[in-house]
Amino acid sequence: MKRYRADFVIADSGTIKDGVVTVEADRIVDIGLGAYDIDLGSVVIMPGLVNAHSHAFQRILRGRTEYLDSAHPDEDFWSWRTLMYQATEDFKPDDLSLVSKMAFLEMATTGITTVGEFHYVHHQPDGTEYADPNELAHRVIQAALDVGLRITLLNVAYHRGGFNRPLVDRQFRFVDRTFTGYLERTKALHGHWGSHPQVDVGFAPHSIRAVPADWLREIARVASQSRQVIHIHACEQREELLQSINEYQKGPISVLDELGILGDRTTLVHATHIDDADAARLARTNTGVCLCPTTEQNLGDGFVPAHVLKTHDVPICVGSDSQIEIDLWQDVRQIEYQQRLLDERRNVLARYVDASASKSAKKLQTADVLWPALHSNGASALGVESGRLTPGKLADFITVDLTHPSMAGTVTDDLISQLIFGVKTQAVKDVFIGGKAIVESGRHPDQDKIIADYHHYVQGR
Ligand SMILES: [Zn+2]
Repeated sequence: MKRYRADFVIADSGTIKDGVVTVEADRIVDIGLGAYDIDLGSVVIMPGLVNAHSHAFQRILRGRTEYLDSAHPDEDFWSWRTLMYQATEDFKPDDLSLVSKMAFLEMATTGITTVGEFHYVHHQPDGTEYADPNELAHRVIQAALDVGLRITLLNVAYHRGGFNRPLVDRQFRFVDRTFTGYLERTKALHGHWGSHPQVDVGFAPHSIRAVPADWLREIARVASQSRQVIHIHACEQREELLQSINEYQKGPISVLDELGILGDRTTLVHATHIDDADAARLARTNTGVCLCPTTEQNLGDGFVPAHVLKTHDVPICVGSDSQIEIDLWQDVRQIEYQQRLLDERRNVLARYVDASASKSAKKLQTADVLWPALHSNGASALGVESGRLTPGKLADFITVDLTHPSMAGTVTDDLISQLIFGVKTQAVKDVFIGGKAIVESGRHPDQDKIIADYHHYVQGR
């Protein structure tokens, strides 16, 4: 048993000054005041961040797609997708291990303790399976464990190029030819890792473009029996809405609802182009949404539909997605900021604060609306027992340095707002996963080696 003291502890029950978190094995057993073994100093202890949507390998694309090709002067999501496909072309298993480790290391140093890895590069470049068809999934999981992160591997189903569209060559790495093949692969992966305390496996039909109706219906049925989570890209681009109308004569959210995909263990990724009726369906089925604002801005997807989601009280989590930045603090901030730009107003999401639960009915804090998106909603979306500091939960927590310039002058009442609106990732000091420190004083023990290996790999590409 270990007792950690900090200047502040943001517990589920409220913020405690001079708080003590008691950890036994990998769980929190007590939070309160009193005696302690280790003084973490002038820091705040808070739940570790949950990155609910990641494609680790896309870390290799950072800075390499930010140009205009004079032959294609109209760059959009789809031209980025071509570059992303090119990047996967020559990836070998060792390359994937190394790039994934780089992405996960960066996540850990910014305060992320759990990642939902939406994994779709499964096979060899021509589509042939590896000797173990889950070779690449194992590599990604092992990379997360090498860094020390908790991971839910969201095993992607990908079957077609789109409605009435053939596959293109570069999609062969993603594709399962039969549903049975996909299901067996996913079951084998779950069987292999299911008992590991830091690993879980979920289902991830890629999108309604890439997965036909009969597969979606089956995934809904199987996941409900096994009580595994489902994540799916939905409504990121307007083009998807048009394809949905062509194939199903209705929008993607209605299609997913009718196929049984929506539900309290399901998370839609993006949901950029949804309307009020769509959000009402999500609310009725207790479906969550993962927003990826830095990626959505980078790819020109569209604005975060914050009012639409909050009006219906749809649970929101966040993801670093394309890894153009790995900064979930920035992602949650953007949920509010994008709406401010659209409305030309301030504190627009504060109107959704439950005034009866607020400390002050006169001061409705915007940060209170955004706070669960950083950790507890993501933990629920990934089926992980973390995201809140309360007895019984996993001891996944971080410390933020109150002497860092971005946090100086913090007092109890402003603490969560300073974190949401002002903290820099460099203020993240220690990261504990299952009670074990993987980052101490801002450094991971393997940091230099992981960065050097990655740098060497990139130079040689
Ligand atoms: Zn994605």
